Amino acid sequence: MTDVKTLIYSENTELSLQLLGKALQLSGDAVALTTDTQQANALSDYGAKVYTVKDHSSEAVRAGLLDAAKRESPDIVFIGSTKRGREIGPGLASALNAGYSGDCFDVQKGADGFLVKKFVYGGSSIATLKMRGKPAVVSVPARSFQKPEAQGKKGEVVELVVAAPTPKIRVVESRPKKAGDSGLESAKIIVSAGRGFKKREDLKLLEELASELDAKMGCSRPISADLGWMDQWVGISGKKVAPRLYIACGVSGTIQHAAGIRDSQLIVSINSDEAAGIHELSDYSIVGDIYTVLPALTKALRDRVK
Ligand SMILES: Cc1cc2nc3c(=O)[nH]c(=O)nc-3n(C[C@H](O)[C@H](O)[C@H](O)COP(=O)(O)OP(=O)(O)OC[C@H]3O[C@@H](n4cnc5c(N)ncnc54)[C@H](O)[C@@H]3O)c2cc1C
Repeated sequence: MTDVKTLIYSENTELSLQLLGKALQLSGDAVALTTDTQQANALSDYGAKVYTVKDHSSEAVRAGLLDAAKRESPDIVFIGSTKRGREIGPGLASALNAGYSGDCFDVQKGADGFLVKKFVYGGSSIATLKMRGKPAVVSVPARSFQKPEAQGKKGEVVELVVAAPTPKIRVVESRPKKAGDSGLESAKIIVSAGRGFKKREDLKLLEELASELDAKMGCSRPISADLGWMDQWVGISGKKVAPRLYIACGVSGTIQHAAGIRDSQLIVSINSDEAAGIHELSDYSIVGDIYTVLPALTKALRDRVK
């Protein structure tokens, strides 16, 4: 354990606990900021000192983090890599005159700063960056770190009164997500279609498999963006998924697609081309024609259930 002080923030409680887990590993000492009372309790239960601000706006959170940073002088600030976190992190770093690195999945203390790791080139390579200034500000995606063990002590909770600047953004309208939202990001099992499917009607084969496995259906970008056969695709410019099982059917496995399925626990590919890149990414590969493999697989599952 090193002598590091960490300030953490995420509006997502689960993610903030994961950030706390890493912070405690680095230092045994962590402070957090939140706008949510329940989250404040959860973090304090793990021994973190928690600052709270009442105002939920990004401006207020940034002002609260600046105040907390002034009081605590952290060596590093962890911000959860969510849409909101990505909005807050760079502005906070700028206000602190600090370095910023986004989407880091690993952070280690080096001799004269921090070594952070992130995926680059669509996830095909890992870059290690050295951050020397104090504090370093990094954003961290969900599931990079583990929640902490119970600490057996309760942290102090301190309310901050911040004078947040008038928001530059005005919310004109809020609308619920479309009813057809695929739920891909939280799906436990995903079956996914690539250009191996020749006609839209053939997606029926995928639907039948999805129904047997109680799976969500995903696809590669051409199936959605070019052909319009499905709403949302998986990959670097689409949804990043983390199911227990991902079955890629007629998908070649380009780096843009691979970047979105990296967190899957088990990848199975069905592709007639033995040399297709998807096989290398897969735990199990079926070299075969989706038009024969999919019906056989669905039938085998159906027969097994009987
Ligand atoms: C900026 C940018 C961002 C992008 N973002 C994404 C992204 O987020 N997600 C994404 O998916 N793509 C993305 N792409 C597109 C990406 O580069 C590829 O074009 C795409 O992933 C290929 O889709 P595919 O695997 O379905 O098609 P293909 O590459 O054409 O592969 C089809 C595969 O099906 C196999 N096949 C054919 N017939 C059969 C059959 N009968 N049975 C079994 N297998 C068969 C073939 O062997 C082949 O491997 C992006 C591209 C750019 C430029």
